[in-house]
Parts: sequence; C-alpha cells; structure tokens
Amino acid sequence: MELPICEVCAKTGLLCPGCEEKLERGEITETDVEVSKKLVELREKYPSLEDAVLLRTIDTGSLVVLVTKPGMAGKLIGKGGRVSRALSDHLGKKVRVVEEVEDPEDIRQLRKLIQDLIIPARLLSVNVVYEPEGERYKAVIHHRDRNRVPAPVDELQEAIKELTGMEVEVTFG
Ligand SMILES: [Zn+2]
Repeated sequence: MELPICEVCAKTGLLCPGCEEKLERGEITETDVEVSKKLVELREKYPSLEDAVLLRTIDTGSLVVLVTKPGMAGKLIGKGGRVSRALSDHLGKKVRVVEEVEDPEDIRQLRKLIQDLIIPARLLSVNVVYEPEGERYKAVIHHRDRNRVPAPVDELQEAIKELTGMEVEVTFG
C-alpha cells in the first residue's frame, strides 16, 4: 500500500517526526492522515488494498476525494464499493475516488475525472466556452441527477480546481 504518510504511522496512529513535519508544513492534511489510518485498518478485511495507492485527499466539506494513480481507482473503491463505503461511514462524508490526471486540458481526461467525481450522477458534456475574457470550461450534469451528486456544485467546482488547477463551471442541463 502506498500512502501519504508512512505505514507505521498509519498503523499506530502516532506520527513520526517526518510525517509530523509534513503535516505542519501543509504537505499533507489531517484528512490524509485519517484516511490512511482507516485504509490500513480496512486492509485486514480487504486484502486487495495491499496494492492500493493513495496519493492525497481533497476535503471540500461534505465530500472527501481520494486521488490515486491512473488505472488504480478500483482498488480504493473496493468490490461493490465496499472500501469507499466503509471510508464514507467512518468519515461521515461522501467519498469519491479519482485517478490523477496527466493533462487536464485533454478534454477526455477532464471528462473522465468529472464523471468519476460526480458518480452516480450522469455527466452530459464538458465543453470549452470561448468568451471575450478568454476560454473557460463548463461541465453539464443531467438535470434529473441533482439529488445524485455527492456534494453541492460549489464543492464540486472546488474539488475540480484542486485536482486540475482549472476553473470549471458545473451546471445542470
Ligand atoms: Zn511517519
């Protein structure tokens, strides 16, 4: 398992000087620590977590996004969503797993990222809108899925910004 903190720290729940310093410098967050601890605990029950990779987490308030390497999301979601559900119960927040995007300006990668973030809501489109001030991105979610998104629109936009560095307007259509 690859975690933002060392495995010993995740196991004992006590941070070593190295991890403590990372936390103080803001390189890792309390949510990174909390999720890492829980993942180590869950590994007892779900041995496939042995191969899981957690790069970092993004906590937007009601949603925690777990960021993993390309192709690795399934490991953190678990069979039938068991791992992400257990994390969600533990944190008292919604949990979504996304894969790190290499080129967010590649619209296909951006689209996959946003779809993974809002699941089970359906993403209709991601478009570039050209305006006098420059271009901006707009993501449109199916209007019937307003109650199926994991977080309010402003939190989704915040998560996308953290993940890609891009301002994407999220709307329903
Ligand atoms: Zn440590």
